[in-house]
Amino acid sequence: MDNIADVLQKAFPGLEGDGLDDLMAVAHKRFYPPDTVIVHEEEAGHTFFVVLKGQVEVSKQIDGQTRRVLQRHGPGEFFGEMALIEELPRVATVQTLTPSTLLEIHKDDFDTALARHPTLALTVMRKVTQRLRWADQTAIAELRQQNEKLARAYHKLAEQERLRSEFLTTIAHELRTPLTAADGYLSLIASGKLPADQVQEGVGRAARSVKRVVKLVNDILFLQEMDLILPEFQPVSLRELISQAVADRSQQAIDANLSLRVQVEEPLPEIRGDPEWLRRAIDALLDNAIKFSPNGGEISIRIARRSEQIRLSISDQGVGIPTDQMDRVFARFQRIERAGPHLFGGVGLGLPVARQVVEQHGGTIEVHSVEGQGSTFVLSLPATD
Ligand code: ADP
Repeated sequence: MDNIADVLQKAFPGLEGDGLDDLMAVAHKRFYPPDTVIVHEEEAGHTFFVVLKGQVEVSKQIDGQTRRVLQRHGPGEFFGEMALIEELPRVATVQTLTPSTLLEIHKDDFDTALARHPTLALTVMRKVTQRLRWADQTAIAELRQQNEKLARAYHKLAEQERLRSEFLTTIAHELRTPLTAADGYLSLIASGKLPADQVQEGVGRAARSVKRVVKLVNDILFLQEMDLILPEFQPVSLRELISQAVADRSQQAIDANLSLRVQVEEPLPEIRGDPEWLRRAIDALLDNAIKFSPNGGEISIRIARRSEQIRLSISDQGVGIPTDQMDRVFARFQRIERAGPHLFGGVGLGLPVARQVVEQHGGTIEVHSVEGQGSTFVLSLPATD
């Protein structure tokens, strides 16, 4: 479309007769090579443009780094319309994308033509208003989108902040309980008021409390650092790791009237792994099984080879995990608050540590659980022979 009359009629439908002739008389044809900036945002301008041939791009600087393309105009489309309405600076930058020929009409000439032909004024104003309304709607839609994005980001931040503050409160409580106990026993011993035959037990209890604190702090540091360090792989016997972990908890199991059963399916090859890391994972699962088990319950630990994997499962007959919470429990600092008479301590570090360890060993961890009946955690680690 390079006929000036056709292009002006496309730009302003209904424009004809003298009005069209007058506009054609004041329109100057001008050629621009590609990538030429025709109007620059924020600069004053008195010219209105209609594309005769080629294509131009309208863009706007959003912030220091982002320039957003608003529109592309081809033959029969116009830009620079604000110049017709008021002496306003340009609101966007327009640049040629291809070799382009533009019709340029100076504001004064346009005004003269408008004054002579009221119908021209109506046609032009109708089209310009349409364009402005479209721009408004686009801006509103964009604002709405930005608002939604902001609201989502805000909710995410608020949720993170809630978790962080919950975590700090929990951790403060988890630290305070054993520290207060240790402090109590040690003060009593230091004051000489504890009968001599109970000193040994008092020291033992203080030491266990301090150990709990050390373990908690170690878990936090381990979880923070384990993204940065790699496990030290060597041949490891899972059977041995399990029997050490179980032996370490024999007193605890007796105290809670729990039986720990270990079943190993032969033959069981060694795996390649970091024994210290794997112990952390096993400890976390065993500690949870003990913590969430009822008095008199049984915890059963099975190790077996299943084709290319060694499976270690730890089952308890405890409180179980609600189905809708199952995905959450492996995330850092996530705990399930349980209603009811029994309060379980914990800060939500055990399962994330276990998962990280297992994943660093190329394995997986999954959980099967029925609320009120018990849970089974299954570690699958690659067999190496
Ligand atoms: P915590 O220190 O709270 O035990 P974990 O990361 O080890 O943290 O576990 C996260 C949550 O998963 C626990 O608060 C608990 O609700 C649930 N959970 C983990 N193991 C068991 C289990 N054996 N039985 C029931 N719930 C469990």
